[in-house]
Amino acid sequence: MEINDTTTGGKLIDRLGRPIEDLRVSLTDRCNLRCTYCMPREMFGPDHVFLPRHELLSFEELSRVLAAFVDLGVNKLRLTGGEPLLRKDLPDLIALLSPLEGLQDIALTTNGILLPRVADQLAAAGLDRVTISLDALDDETFRKTADTPLSVDAVLAGVDAALAAGLQPVKINSVMQRGVNDHQIEDLAGWARDTGVALRFIEFMDVGTTNGWIRERVVPAAEIHERINARWPIEPVGTAAAGDGGEPGGSAGRSEVASGAGRSEVAERYRYLDGGGEVGIVASVTRPFCRTCVRARLSAIGELYTCLFAAKGHDLRAVIRDGATDQQLRDAISAVWLARSDRASELRAEGGLTGERVEMSYIGG
Ligand code: SAM
Ligand code: SF4
Ligand code: SF4
Repeated sequence: MEINDTTTGGKLIDRLGRPIEDLRVSLTDRCNLRCTYCMPREMFGPDHVFLPRHELLSFEELSRVLAAFVDLGVNKLRLTGGEPLLRKDLPDLIALLSPLEGLQDIALTTNGILLPRVADQLAAAGLDRVTISLDALDDETFRKTADTPLSVDAVLAGVDAALAAGLQPVKINSVMQRGVNDHQIEDLAGWARDTGVALRFIEFMDVGTTNGWIRERVVPAAEIHERINARWPIEPVGTAAAGDGGEPGGSAGRSEVASGAGRSEVAERYRYLDGGGEVGIVASVTRPFCRTCVRARLSAIGELYTCLFAAKGHDLRAVIRDGATDQQLRDAISAVWLARSDRASELRAEGGLTGERVEMSYIGG
């Protein structure tokens, strides 16, 4: 049965009226760091069983599945993980994806450490931009947060490589934890202003069940805003500043999507009044934005998740390995999205999240 044929202009809308527009694709569950809020070493040590390589979707399988998502309305892809740069020959995958008609933006989220080796090849293959995670500028805090002997310079070299390769705008993600790295807020903001990168502060989230999340460790967006504003006055940017991601029904062009002005933008965006650029805050915990969430996630083995806090995904790998046609594949995706009613962060705000949920390094952050 044909559920939703977007080739005739139909739009795939979930039960809460949200279209599918943005897909995060995990390329691996492995990582070369052990950030304490994501892959604490006690849980992801030598005994942890990662996905066997033969289980991962091949690049050919990925490009087929992702083409189906684009046919259904996804216009923005973000490759992530785990650490996506651990996936060998990544530029080959980008080259398969960049010609997809309807795709406006291909981005990559990385810890940046392996970027100097491949930034030029990624850009040449058609990658539009990168987001690099950096939670502190002083070595001691960085080493503690990322649980690594490396120094901040290793990440900064990745930032330089991205800028030199033209993978712009380069964004920086900084997850704030009270008593761990929140003393770095002003230093990070000042560095981003000087470097010309777009910084996003992210509230520490209770993703997965291994990172020991407690509410007391969340630094609320309001506090981050207040501290930046006290040092460099800021004002909201446009309509997306309230986290609504833009007008429903509007369609963002490639540059709008790339600058983060599209509907899938979840950061509250601010501009410095002195012309020092922009800064964003992602208030996932204190000001949830489920109502406008147009984001799906695909695990490295091809499971479709409709929420970051879902307990389980829908197996698309089985669909393609069972010999489904492209239409059957689109129908399988459509059926999942049509049934979607997730709003976990709103539920958390209303009384707390309980039960099993998948790890961020597995589902793709
Ligand atoms: N390894 C890559 C990286 O770190 O950029 C990509 C994957 S990582 C899971 C994607 C993003 O998720 C990173 O920016 C990371 O800081 C963020 N993240 C991971 N765990 C988080 C948590 N508990 N709360 C908020 N953000 C988190
Ligand atoms: Fe690795 Fe990224 Fe998770 Fe840090 S946040 S452990 S770099 S996947
Ligand atoms: Fe979207 Fe789920 Fe996050 Fe809400 S909690 S914004 S539905 S991913």
